[in-house]
Amino acid sequence: MTLPESTTDKKVAIIPQASRIVVNRREKVVLQLRVLWQVFQVSLQQTGNPLTAIQMIWRIREKYQTIFGEPLMTKIAKVDGRFFWRLGAAGFPSPASVRMHQNEVSRFMPGTSPYGLRTLLFAITKKCALNCEHCFEWEHLNQQEVLSTADLIEIVRKYQAYGTTQIMLSGGEPMLRVNDIYKVLEAALGGTDFWIITSGVGLTAERAKRLKQLGLTGVMVSLDHFDASRHNAFRGFENAYDSAVQAVVNANQAGLVTTLSLCATKTFTTAENLARYMELAKTLGVSFVQILEPRASGRYQDQDVELGEKELLLLEKMYADYNTSSAFQDFPIVNYLGYHQRKVGCFGAGNRFFYIDTDGDAQICPFCTNKVANALQFTAEDMVSLLGQFGCHGFKQGQL
Ligand code: SF4
Repeated sequence: MTLPESTTDKKVAIIPQASRIVVNRREKVVLQLRVLWQVFQVSLQQTGNPLTAIQMIWRIREKYQTIFGEPLMTKIAKVDGRFFWRLGAAGFPSPASVRMHQNEVSRFMPGTSPYGLRTLLFAITKKCALNCEHCFEWEHLNQQEVLSTADLIEIVRKYQAYGTTQIMLSGGEPMLRVNDIYKVLEAALGGTDFWIITSGVGLTAERAKRLKQLGLTGVMVSLDHFDASRHNAFRGFENAYDSAVQAVVNANQAGLVTTLSLCATKTFTTAENLARYMELAKTLGVSFVQILEPRASGRYQDQDVELGEKELLLLEKMYADYNTSSAFQDFPIVNYLGYHQRKVGCFGAGNRFFYIDTDGDAQICPFCTNKVANALQFTAEDMVSLLGQFGCHGFKQGQL
């Protein structure tokens, strides 16, 4: 198979798609009904009343629309028999998906405190060979590891027991601890979708296959430009582009869900660049494209990197167009956290997600770098309540 080279002036080879964006209307409607039936059953279990359970479904639909600015499940990817429509949502059907709906329904139940996390971002290693200009772990890279294999397993199992439906393992470069990832997956309890956030370096076909066999759901591969030399320069690593593309191919072939993560810098964010990036993403057969806005933290600390109104409007338009317009119906689903944060506030700080760094310390998110407490020393319940006392630096606290 020929890999796509820099798209500046070379033709991109067609790669067989692992992800299939569901465009058949009937298939979509049947799936929507199945998901609504699951939400109804979960609601009925918690409320004991069919009418209240139906009301609950409408409230959840309204909430979804407020947060995402689009109706429930406008675009859906199918990978290895499961369906995915939001990057932060567990694949359907699965025990993780049932648990996610249980967590959401419990938020509407009077007298109950919210329980369970949507996503735990967990940085499992300080090791990394790259030199990325935006790295938020920059100050801690390539120092002595603090967390042992047993610590990783303890933290993962603790947050699974708390009802976490998605755990994303990051770093550093998590593939440099791949043997520990195997052990974590072997020791995991079930009911959680596991993902790896990687530069792609070290994600060989053999490893992708083994990770899939051990229960990994997906990989998020960082790719910050459609042009190989520019991505390599951004990542400070000669083979970064080839590694990222090869990792996506390997993960697709293993039946993993694939996502490209783009740090949309000021210079990158033009309509033409975004369109070319999405073309490449479609060719690579990924299910999602995640847009990250550069933040003045980590290696970008004190730098003027934050996007202006012009770039933000372009990104918001891209988000809406690719997720809702029929012209882009077979393109990957766009995930854009900044869009929701500006609209309804931030859901970090343990509301729906938070970050555990390479020392095992909890932070409200990877960008708001304030250590709150150590994940090994506190129960999940106490940690979430502690995190809730801190606010996001840039956005209001999410209320939904
Ligand atoms: S790959 Fe990740 S951890 Fe490594 S330098 Fe780049 S941003 Fe930092």
